Amino acid sequence: MFSTLSFLARANVVNRLTRSDPAKVARLRETRFRKLLRAATRSPLYRDKFRGLDLARCPLDALPTLNKHEAMARFDDWATDRAVTLRAAEAFVGDFANVGRLFLGKYVLMHTSGSSGQAVILVQPRAAVDLLFTLQMTRGNATGDTGVREAYRKFRNPARLAIVTLKEGFYPTGATFEFYPRQLRHFVHLRRLSQTDPDLIAKLNDYSPTVVTAYATALQELADEFEAGRLKLPGLKHVVNNSELLTEPARERLLKVFGVPVFNNYATAECMHLTTGCPTDPGMHVNADWSILEVVDADNRPVPPGVTGSKVLLTNLANTVQPVIRYEVPDRVTLATAGCRCGSRLPRVERVEGRGQENFWAHRGGEWVRVDAFIIKAALNYCTDSFDWQAEQDEPGVIRLAVAVLPGRELDVPRLRFRLDEQLALYGLRGLVRIEPRGVSRIAPDPRTGKVRRSICRTGPAETPR
Ligand SMILES: [Zn+2]
Repeated sequence: MFSTLSFLARANVVNRLTRSDPAKVARLRETRFRKLLRAATRSPLYRDKFRGLDLARCPLDALPTLNKHEAMARFDDWATDRAVTLRAAEAFVGDFANVGRLFLGKYVLMHTSGSSGQAVILVQPRAAVDLLFTLQMTRGNATGDTGVREAYRKFRNPARLAIVTLKEGFYPTGATFEFYPRQLRHFVHLRRLSQTDPDLIAKLNDYSPTVVTAYATALQELADEFEAGRLKLPGLKHVVNNSELLTEPARERLLKVFGVPVFNNYATAECMHLTTGCPTDPGMHVNADWSILEVVDADNRPVPPGVTGSKVLLTNLANTVQPVIRYEVPDRVTLATAGCRCGSRLPRVERVEGRGQENFWAHRGGEWVRVDAFIIKAALNYCTDSFDWQAEQDEPGVIRLAVAVLPGRELDVPRLRFRLDEQLALYGLRGLVRIEPRGVSRIAPDPRTGKVRRSICRTGPAETPR
């Protein structure tokens, strides 16, 4: 009982902070940042990288960045606990019986899918996972209320949360929900369902969730079922997109079909509590008391709000076991220039354009030329009937583009061709590669990861990872 009360008290403090003076959030962040740097001195990897720096005073942007190849190459030197080795971690994730168990008796282990190149194994303290749930249940709550009365109401009439993911495993969402805090179970009942279960709709109807959390593609399928009247969610309060890119037209459709707030969370496995979706406006709020999101250009220089960066640098203030400090993630993020209607004063991400490293290839005079998938995204920004896409390339000259259109609409192919041509010309690629669009009703997710692979490239220079 005491742990439940202290959990609630903490949750209330966490929630109220969203409306606090940004200077107060900055002070908390600074304290946690210095604590993280002190912890990082126990990591041989960071000791090498930070040599000669005054860690008690140096500004964030004076620190070197870290990328996943370097981190994985020196995995045994990365953690602050010498018992964390690649060999032990790989053996642990290699055995499915370990799902739901703590690595070395104390850490939550997960791995990224590797769909964007190299897989990364991540080790975090249990407290970091508790923090993730606390943030989700407070800042990611449609009522926005976490006071005593709301807690009592939830205790009498607990929320019913349906998590629609893949089957069990060490992928981030799956691994995390294995460690759903005991203290929360009085207030929020949880049921995990598989998105590939043929009885999914019947099970959802039976459970009648108040909150549905799923990948973006699965949410679109649920919206179809809901529109067709087969899925009934009479008590639904909000829906949450986790870990997959939710485009703005797709978010608007969910909003219209379900008629409840849509929380669009943006995070990576390296910092799962990075943001919480905004209940009123596009994008999401950075949990700036527990993480630092730097939106930068290709040379790590910060770009101002309203300008799309080339990548982001993440600092996770909650993980002192395997420090993530100025960690490079190739996402193109745009910070919002204006505040929003939900009342949160935390910084807001306006848009995430996915992994910037996705690309295709063309030939020019015997040389390989990179064709950034951003070109396709930019052209599709003009195509308001679309909500998802997938591009495939098997030979240098041709990219096949499947565009998922909203129900009842049709893809305007000539118009999209014109926009694609315009983008190719902008990057000096017209005539080198032909993009052939076609309209489809749905893009099927990769059965291995449960997520849509937007760019599939089977050609290019030999050294390119596929
Ligand atoms: Zn907001």
